[in-house]
Amino acid sequence: MKAPKFEYVRAGSRQQALELLDQHGEDGRILAGGQSLMPTLNMRLSQPGTLIDINKIADLSGITLENNVVRIGAMTRHVEVANSPIIAEHLPLIAEAMEHVAHHAVRNRGTIGGSVALADPAAEMPACVLALGATLIVESVKGRREIAADDYFQGLYETARESNELLVEISVPIEKPDDVSVFLELAQRHGDFAMAGLACVARISNRTFEDLRLVYFGSEDKPTIATGAMAAVVGQTWSAACKEAAADALTNDLDPMTNLQGSSEMKLHLQKVLTGRALDAAIERAEAA
Ligand SMILES: Cc1cc2nc3c(=O)[nH]c(=O)nc-3n(C[C@H](O)[C@H](O)[C@H](O)COP(=O)(O)OP(=O)(O)OC[C@H]3O[C@@H](n4cnc5c(N)ncnc54)[C@H](O)[C@@H]3O)c2cc1C
Repeated sequence: MKAPKFEYVRAGSRQQALELLDQHGEDGRILAGGQSLMPTLNMRLSQPGTLIDINKIADLSGITLENNVVRIGAMTRHVEVANSPIIAEHLPLIAEAMEHVAHHAVRNRGTIGGSVALADPAAEMPACVLALGATLIVESVKGRREIAADDYFQGLYETARESNELLVEISVPIEKPDDVSVFLELAQRHGDFAMAGLACVARISNRTFEDLRLVYFGSEDKPTIATGAMAAVVGQTWSAACKEAAADALTNDLDPMTNLQGSSEMKLHLQKVLTGRALDAAIERAEAA
C-alpha cells in the first residue's frame, strides 16, 4: 500500500518546528528517522495531515556529558548512540541494549528520540531510560518541561508528552561506579522487537543486593517497574531461594499482553527465566568489577 496524502514541511530550526506543531495540533506529526512512522503511513495505520521533518535541526543531535548527566539530543541516531564512547563508559546499560535495537539499516536512520517519543512497548530504549531514572525534556511554543521517566510512559504508545510538544533531549544520570547493569531480551531473530526483556541496574556487595531496579518490556503495554520482584531481592544474599522468590513476585508485578509474539503465560514464563539470568549476570559482573 502507499501512504495517504500528506503535506510535508522541513523545519529549519527548533523554534520553527515548535510553531508548526502548535499550528497543526493533532494533525501534525514529527518526522524523525521515519523508521516507524513511514511504515505506519504506508500501512494506513495513521493519517496525519502534515509531516514536520526535524532532520535538519542540528541542535537536536549529539551526546554530551555535563555534571554526571549524559545529555542525548532527541535526533541522535541509534548508530551514534551505539558508537558513542560517552555512552560506553557512563551508560553501559544503553550500550548493551543498543545491540538489540533493530538492524543496521534501521539503526542508521532511527533516532533515540523517535523511539522514546513513540513508546513502543517492545522497544529497548524506553525500558533503559526508565531503569536509569532519566528525564525527558520536551518543548512547545509555551516553553520547556521536564518529565521524569517514571511519569512519562502511560500506556500503549501513550506518554505524558502533549501533541504540541517536541521531545528535544533525554537526560540520563550516569551509572554509579558501584552499580552494575544487565540488559537481556528474547526475540524471534536478533534485531527483531522483543518477545520479552528486561533492564536491570543493581548495587551488590558480597553477593547481597543493596539496591535494585528491574524494568520489563515486550510483555506489558508499557515498560514496567517490577516493585514486588525488587523487594523480594533487595537486602537478600543471592541464592536459589532468592531467585525463586523474585520469580514468584513477578507473577503479581506483570500481566503480559497476549499477542502475535505469544500468550500471556508464555511471556510471563520468559520474563521469569530472564530475571534469574539477569540477576546471575549482575552477581558475576559485581564480582568481576
Ligand atoms: C524492520 C524494523 C525493525 C525494528 N526493530 C526495532 C527494535 O528491535 N527495537 C526498537 O526499539 N525499534 C525497532 N524499530 C523501530 C526503530 O528503532 C525506529 O527508529 C524508532 O522506533 C523510531 O525512531 P525514528 O527516529 O525512526 O522515528 P519516526 O519513525 O520518525 O517517528 C516515530 C514516532 O515518534 C514521533 N517522534 C519522533 N521524534 C519525535 C520527537 N523528537 N518529538 C516528538 N515526537 C517525535 C513521530 O511523530 C512518530 O509518531 C524497527 C523498525 C523497523 C523498520
